[in-house]
Amino acid sequence: MNGIFSLGWEEWVSFPDLGLDAIKAKVDTGAKTSSLHAAVIEPFGSVEKPMVRFLIQPDPDRLDLEITCVAPIVDRRSVTSSNGETELRYVIETSIKIADRNWPVEVTLTNRENMAYRMLLGRTAITDEMVVDPNSSFCQPKLSFDLYGERLVAEPVQRPLRIALLTREPNNYSSKRIVEAARARGHHIQAIDTTRCYLKMGGLAPEVHYDGSPLPHFDVVIPRIGASTTAYGMAVLRQFASTGAYCVNSAEAIGASRDKLLAHQMMAAAKIGTPVTAFAHSPKDTKQLVELVGGAPAVVKLLSSTQGRGVVLAETKKAAESLVDAFRGLDANFLIQEFVSEAAGADIRCLVVGNKVVGAIKRQAADGEFRSNLHRGGSARRVRISKEVREVAKRATRVLGLSVAGVDILESKSGPQVLEVNSSPGFEGIERATQKDIAGVLIEFIETKVRPLAKKR
Ligand code: ADP
Ligand code: MG
Repeated sequence: MNGIFSLGWEEWVSFPDLGLDAIKAKVDTGAKTSSLHAAVIEPFGSVEKPMVRFLIQPDPDRLDLEITCVAPIVDRRSVTSSNGETELRYVIETSIKIADRNWPVEVTLTNRENMAYRMLLGRTAITDEMVVDPNSSFCQPKLSFDLYGERLVAEPVQRPLRIALLTREPNNYSSKRIVEAARARGHHIQAIDTTRCYLKMGGLAPEVHYDGSPLPHFDVVIPRIGASTTAYGMAVLRQFASTGAYCVNSAEAIGASRDKLLAHQMMAAAKIGTPVTAFAHSPKDTKQLVELVGGAPAVVKLLSSTQGRGVVLAETKKAAESLVDAFRGLDANFLIQEFVSEAAGADIRCLVVGNKVVGAIKRQAADGEFRSNLHRGGSARRVRISKEVREVAKRATRVLGLSVAGVDILESKSGPQVLEVNSSPGFEGIERATQKDIAGVLIEFIETKVRPLAKKR
């Protein structure tokens, strides 16, 4: 090669071996590795010669144009992207072409569907005889998406998804409904008992084993992890994620929502309203702690409990102090919270899927009870929520990094206050009260995530 080859901060590139005729790439010497947008990343092939298949929509403005690519896997690597998220990615080696130059590059596969550029060209792909001029764009000839011409896919290929429902309770209402909704849409779904999974790490392909044999590749994992198995469930989920499966809620987000302390801290940082809350482990100054939340009446909650069991209302300051002393004696983590009396034993459960509230119910506590949990005898009816409540529910879900959540909200004098965000919300109460097919909405959301084309059906 002779002469200096200039690259602007954006360039058209092609990948002859992948069948990609034209991609607009952002050239970023601030990034080490190059990455390519890929969806439905599926490893296959033998252990000696691992391969990967993935889908790419080269034109961000024409999602019906979808190309399936196949490439050898050369590595798996942990990559931290510009938004600070670390992800274990497949690395492929393939040749890139700009103008008349053709050279091999390593590219990591990741979902860049929300990015303006399907390709990021990092500095390891830029060779010595190239110079990058960050002030100009398209130093090399422009290509066009028209090159794909007749390869335009008019009708999406209907490929059923392979879905794993990660649950210890395949027969409960929510599990049954999710299975039913997935099958009704032609997908393969299998309930997998979290605690019966075992994990093999190391090597190029992480594996999840189950009852004596490795599980096949799943496109999607729907985690329904109970509070008693959070830690192991998260490990199993991370393993599935590292096989390239799309996890409907990430292990990290589930962990954050389960940890009431962390969840409150994250919500406070995002200025999401919550009742005034104080956390404690074994404080010496009980009185001071009770006063922090405005004295009695106050609600004391054991951090490890769910379904309203560890939630107690202390009507007087004395009662609150005795409760705090008792919990302290148990060596338990707990919180004490201002009692939102104007909520009058009612809270709103918003079911969020993606960035939408897909159903909302008002739960009213039984007579003489302030906890509205359905497990505590509360009753549910559908409710029209205010825009304010809707926004808070969506925001709380997003802040915790969840895509599916049940957000419990109290309506207080000072606006909606989030009590908790549940990462495996039950569907029974909400489907019965709203008569909505929430499980179906969940499956449709998954289709848009894993196969962007499904949206257009
Ligand atoms: P759990 O995780 O056990 O469901 P929650 O924090 O959701 O615990 O509390 C259970 C129920 O108790 C809530 O749904 C709500 O009805 C009631 N509750 C909880 N905290 C308060 C509070 N600070 N003020 C008024 N009611 C509350
Ligand atoms: Mg609750």
